[in-house]
Amino acid sequence: MLSLVTSIFGVLAAVPLVSAVPPSNVLMKDVVIVGGGAAGAYAAVRLRDDFGKRIALIEKQDILGGMVDSYVDPKTGIPYNYGVMSFLEAGNATGFFQRFGVAIGPTSSVSVTTNYIDFETGELVDFQLPPMADQMAAMANFLRIVEPWEHLTQPSYSNFPTPDAIPEDLLLTFGEFITKYGLEDAVPLMFQTTGLGLGNMTEETTLFVLQGFGASMARAFLGKQGQFAVASGRNQDLYDAIGKHLAGDVFYSSTVVDSQRTDFGVTLTVQNHKTNETTRIHARRLLLAIEPTAANMAPFDLDSDEQTILSKFTYTNEYTGLVNNAAFATNQSYFNLPATAAPSNYLALPNPSFTARIDYIGGDNLFRVTIIGNDTLDSAGAKRLVQEEFNTLLQAGRLTTTSDGEPLNWVAFSAHGPMHARVSVADVKDGFLQKLYALQGGRSTWWTGGAFSVNFQTILWEFDEILFPELLQGLN
Ligand SMILES: Cc1cc2nc3c(=O)[nH]c(=O)nc-3n(C[C@H](O)[C@H](O)[C@H](O)COP(=O)(O)OP(=O)(O)OC[C@H]3O[C@@H](n4cnc5c(N)ncnc54)[C@H](O)[C@@H]3O)c2cc1C
Repeated sequence: MLSLVTSIFGVLAAVPLVSAVPPSNVLMKDVVIVGGGAAGAYAAVRLRDDFGKRIALIEKQDILGGMVDSYVDPKTGIPYNYGVMSFLEAGNATGFFQRFGVAIGPTSSVSVTTNYIDFETGELVDFQLPPMADQMAAMANFLRIVEPWEHLTQPSYSNFPTPDAIPEDLLLTFGEFITKYGLEDAVPLMFQTTGLGLGNMTEETTLFVLQGFGASMARAFLGKQGQFAVASGRNQDLYDAIGKHLAGDVFYSSTVVDSQRTDFGVTLTVQNHKTNETTRIHARRLLLAIEPTAANMAPFDLDSDEQTILSKFTYTNEYTGLVNNAAFATNQSYFNLPATAAPSNYLALPNPSFTARIDYIGGDNLFRVTIIGNDTLDSAGAKRLVQEEFNTLLQAGRLTTTSDGEPLNWVAFSAHGPMHARVSVADVKDGFLQKLYALQGGRSTWWTGGAFSVNFQTILWEFDEILFPELLQGLN
């Protein structure tokens, strides 16, 4: 057994095998990837098919795709997306869909009337959007200001300046930044689309808000950058096609339960939580494509450097789901804002945890619910929060029936979990991003995903592309 390891790694006894594991469950790979979402699934395809590497992809769910959630109405067969809605045109994104024969088309949406309501009290908020021309003018100004900084943070932080050279605007709170440049009229569009993922974005640091709503989103609104969706209406089609293609190289319903990471390779013990079967995988490189939270990192035996750096991240917890209660009115959207937002205080936003919005999306009275939690809100807490707010909306007469206590009917629910990783201004000034990137390659481990890049699917694919040359160096 040892000689097999020696021939694979070229390094004697760097990664010992454990004899208790049956040989049929021992695999030798070039790269093992953990996390089969946007960053991990893309990397698996490229590394295996285009760079000819032997890979294994470990995914805790029984499908690939992570935050891409699609639901198919069993009565009509019509698909609805309730996670990722669209893909930004970036790099060779459209080519990636083509190689799997997944047709793309324009993004679609249902026309709705938006009701602004304070979900804590159930009271209507007399909130007035700026005229669309003013929103677009503010968006164009925003783009003009932030676009020159884009290369500092996207797709990678590798160009991020040393502490003495960080543009000071990036370290303002986003509220201060907006006020400084008079960009208030752009805030409703920012918050109501992707900005809400950060919680109350006005209180977060501009640098990290721009990772949730930055130049690419502004260009998309201004018609300067394309976006698209899967033509079938089911964005999950892409990741299902990837799963089919990668076939036996994917370990579904599996997580890493133990690991040894050295400069010469890694050994992971992977357990399938449905069958309890374990597999030992020896690989020359590890690519982690999961959020680097304490819970996710527990089996990876972090060294003190990794621990110190990664433990600085804070996150919001995002959940989405579909409900179909008759209490919600067709073609309506229920949007949560504090009373102080009326009539045009665009910087008044709710603080996490909150249900951001409940939107009609079609079908059998289907409504998409988006919940933004603080760093402790779990799935049960998220469902409880929406139920409480639903009761409040019912009692306040905001919904179509006045019956109290009607339980919410979840047709689908997805825990996207911790996302929008960020750190304090003090940490940024202390060179956090440089220290984060210095982790790349240590103990044969590379890092991708939202925390190391940005929270957009196709931009993460571009980030992966930057990693490949380094990760592949020395792998023949
Ligand atoms: C509601 C919502 C809507 C969004 N809409 C868009 C959009 O329209 N367009 C867009 O570009 N982006 C959108 N995003 C953001 C985008 O989806 C994310 O930025 C992207 O999915 C992050 O990719 P990732 O690979 O880092 O993580 P993920 O895609 O979440 O992938 C991580 C994967 O790892 C798995 N995993 C987690 N922990 C473990 C573990 N311990 N062991 C094994 N596997 C594990 C997960 O199951 C998951 O499959 C949206 C996000 C949310 C939450």
